[in-house]
Amino acid sequence: MSDVPLTAAVKAFLARPHGQFIQGNACISHAAPLIDIINPANEEVVAAVATASRDELNAAVAAAKGSFQSLWANFNPYARGVILNKLADLIEQNGEEIAQLDTLCSGKSINLSRLFEVQQSAVFLRYFAGWTTKISGQTLQPSFPSMAGEQYSAFTRREPVGVVAAIVPWNFPLMIGIWKLGAALACGCSVVIKPSEFTPLTMLRLAELAKEAGLPDGVLNVINGGGDTGRQLIEHPDVAKVSFTGSVATGKKVNMTAAADLTRCTLELGGKNTAALLQDADIDRAVAGLLQTGYIHQGQVCAAPERVYVHASRLDELTGKLGAALAAAPVGSPLDERVVFGPLSNKPQFDKVCHYLQVAGSESRILSGGEVIDRPGYFVQPTIVRAASATEVLMQEETFGPVLSFMSYDEDDELLALINNTPYGLGTSLWTNNLSAAMRMIPQVESGTVWVNMHTMVDPAVPFGGVKHSGIGREFGSSFIDEYTEVKSVIMAY
Ligand code: NAD
Repeated sequence: MSDVPLTAAVKAFLARPHGQFIQGNACISHAAPLIDIINPANEEVVAAVATASRDELNAAVAAAKGSFQSLWANFNPYARGVILNKLADLIEQNGEEIAQLDTLCSGKSINLSRLFEVQQSAVFLRYFAGWTTKISGQTLQPSFPSMAGEQYSAFTRREPVGVVAAIVPWNFPLMIGIWKLGAALACGCSVVIKPSEFTPLTMLRLAELAKEAGLPDGVLNVINGGGDTGRQLIEHPDVAKVSFTGSVATGKKVNMTAAADLTRCTLELGGKNTAALLQDADIDRAVAGLLQTGYIHQGQVCAAPERVYVHASRLDELTGKLGAALAAAPVGSPLDERVVFGPLSNKPQFDKVCHYLQVAGSESRILSGGEVIDRPGYFVQPTIVRAASATEVLMQEETFGPVLSFMSYDEDDELLALINNTPYGLGTSLWTNNLSAAMRMIPQVESGTVWVNMHTMVDPAVPFGGVKHSGIGREFGSSFIDEYTEVKSVIMAY
């Protein structure tokens, strides 16, 4: 097995100093504390990024506010779409560079980086580009009595909210960033985006491509740093909206910080997503689906199924087939195109998953995997756990790793209560060919998305977000327009 060679563009990018991207320019402050970017496959430092100073943060927000007021809010909608489409083209044209940079920082297999961070990023961006010319208000007829023959008319305008602070996690650093900036820019908002401190490189490269695509200076700015930088950005009085994706714990803090100044806020958070197999489920189909969605990117996917309820008569068949498939999947360097399982993305995430493997060993039964892999980097075995109780830690807490917990049930009428027995509600899948049973369950499932005979698939046309502790607000579909525009009502007498 061998790694794909790093391209000359990747080597050159890694060799450069990195800092912020403000008002269309890279800003490098040599005095700023550096964040080392670690390759999780071998624990080597691949690059360093300077933390944004307070002055740089203020400059980024000022650039976003200035370009919003002077230009972008009233930019020709068609021309906005042309720029976003051009950016999508440039993402594809520079796809291998973006994919390799992502794999080096996140440990995602190179095939997945090409698919999600490049191809899907372009797909989402083009979707948002198509909306720029379709954002509109309504014409309304007021019922005021006419006292002296006057008449009335009313209409609403959808106006961009202003400067958007976008804060993104490390699992899909570019694609999730595109979900936010594509939506914001399509609506006429300007953006200051803070990538995760573990994976800042692809967003810095994207900012350069956005300038090349013709995006006016200041409309998209990137600042780097950890949680403190994120908090300072949210607290900035000129930020009109926060769009956050990350963990529930951080999301609660973000919501409090935003609420202190009545800054509008959408939250896409974690979960403990359920796959529920009804008695008639097609087991081979479910095995393929769980492999594809539960273990992809080492389970570090927000909507991935982590707990699986299976009718007692089918549990052994499911876990046996899944265990055999996992054992056959190659583990190794994520830059090797034949590898299926790479490392976890960073040391804190590795420590977290190791903790849950210990918990699994003590309170449940590990059917397959369960061990740290003895090699440099943050590798653990993909794991199957059999739980005895729905209240076990592994059935309740998000591991965000390749650790799926399976529990049997006996009667169909137990299933809904088991599915809803969680504080989270991002995504749930039902596996059955009984359409009637699925249709009756769907309204009762407490979840932002319900999939049937599939899991995790997100599409730009379909709204995505969580209920309960999994978030507030929706991305994609036309729902994003509500999140990034304010409705202004105009009433006229004539
Ligand atoms: P995280 O919450 O630790 O960090 C997310 C981002 O928030 C990072 O950029 C971080 O620097 C920043 N941050 C940290 N503290 C902050 C603060 N006080 N104020 C402002 N910003 C702050 O999450 P993570 O570990 O990067 O990502 C994994 C989590 O994200 C998982 O829980 C996963 O389920 C969730 N996630 C959700 C979705 C979704 O769409 N619902 C998608 C991907 C990931």
